[in-house]
Amino acid sequence: MDYELSDEQKKYKEEFARFCTEQIAPHCPQIDRGGRQAHKKLKSLHRKLGAFGYLGLSFPDQWGGRGHDLLLQTACDEVLAKVSSSVFLSAYTSAIHCGKLIEHFGTAELKRLVLEGLLAGRTIGSVARTEAQAGSDLGAIVTAATRGNGEVVVSGIKDFCVNGPIAGVFLVVARSVVVPDSKDAGGESGPTVLVVPRDTGGVEVVETVETFGYVGLPIARVRFDSSRLPDRFVVGAEGVGRRIVEESLEWDARGMTSASIGIMARALEASFAYSQERQAFGKAIGSFQEVSFKLAEMRAMLDTARLLAAKAAWLAQEGDPEASVFLSCAKLYASESASKCAGYAVQIHGARGLLKQSVVASLYRDAKYGEIAGGTSEIHRIAIARSVLDAVD
Ligand SMILES: Cc1cc2nc3c(=O)[nH]c(=O)nc-3n(C[C@H](O)[C@H](O)[C@H](O)COP(=O)(O)OP(=O)(O)OC[C@H]3O[C@@H](n4cnc5c(N)ncnc54)[C@H](O)[C@@H]3O)c2cc1C
Repeated sequence: MDYELSDEQKKYKEEFARFCTEQIAPHCPQIDRGGRQAHKKLKSLHRKLGAFGYLGLSFPDQWGGRGHDLLLQTACDEVLAKVSSSVFLSAYTSAIHCGKLIEHFGTAELKRLVLEGLLAGRTIGSVARTEAQAGSDLGAIVTAATRGNGEVVVSGIKDFCVNGPIAGVFLVVARSVVVPDSKDAGGESGPTVLVVPRDTGGVEVVETVETFGYVGLPIARVRFDSSRLPDRFVVGAEGVGRRIVEESLEWDARGMTSASIGIMARALEASFAYSQERQAFGKAIGSFQEVSFKLAEMRAMLDTARLLAAKAAWLAQEGDPEASVFLSCAKLYASESASKCAGYAVQIHGARGLLKQSVVASLYRDAKYGEIAGGTSEIHRIAIARSVLDAVD
């Protein structure tokens, strides 16, 4: 088992960190104000990240990728998430989450049509899975993919689509419905996953959703009203999208793990700096044991989460059967630790940590998302408990 980065990978990560500090960080205050201009800026950052090579880091060069492994991808995800959780989740959702599903399950034609654009940052992708009555329980999805006249027709409303307002393509998870008198008759089957380009008839961003954290992340509710698509936009085969959905949940969990680690790293850095500069009772507050012990705990949680994320990436690239449950462990630990770390960071900053515009206040708000998005803590606990109990049987 070896999940240490090579010297070459460490160098790449350092270069990427420098790029993020110089080329991404200066634009984050504008992104966090939201609105049309912020969305325009975010789109330009996708292109910059594409040109640097981050978006295609772990993809084959055939599709414009750089051919690196998942370990370096995970390490660089944390670097970007530390600079901005919102920019990270936007870029990750588009290129890595959507991109990996198309790389693993799409045809060569679909890769040419969509994947190359995602990896270059020219096209922005959005995952449309969640619905009003289908969050953790994806069996309750009602968005329908109906076959008729050699086309697939998609109808339904999707919630919480990250990148929805700026997306050029949606990766839609639908319930497959076969029309009874068609040649494919046989009733309903499993999920169908489709790439739906934004300019397809019937696609409408119904509303931009505002949330209390991730303020720079564009999120939308999107309606698909009898959107007609040729067969080539079906990812994998029609009605057999269960494995694609499972993999989608894994990429989601992996992304939220990195986002949580980035939040922890930033919280520790800000708290350490403040603990040296803030004076109380004639001393830097960092010299009080109660403060330094919080810093120590934050450091221990950060390092543990990093190790878990690296091991999860390593197991996944080795194709280890334990990879999925280990990812659940990493995601659960990292997201709950991020909330704890961000809470400590606010505490160390005292009243200044509660100011709306303070960095640690926004980390505190963003951290909570990690316990809900990418599979809730409860759902990951259920998956881990099941594997423990199965091992006993
Ligand atoms: C920042 C963010 C980004 C997101 N991005 C996307 C996106 O790009 N695309 C997309 O489609 N969706 C996205 N989502 C939605 C996300 O996937 C869902 O929020 C998540 O799956 C949980 O669903 P829910 O919110 O409907 O909660 P529910 O499933 O309704 O759960 C509510 C509560 O009940 C608990 N619960 C549910 N079932 C069980 C059970 N069996 N046992 C025990 N407890 C249970 C949950 O753990 C939770 O505490 C995003 C959400 C957030 C916050």
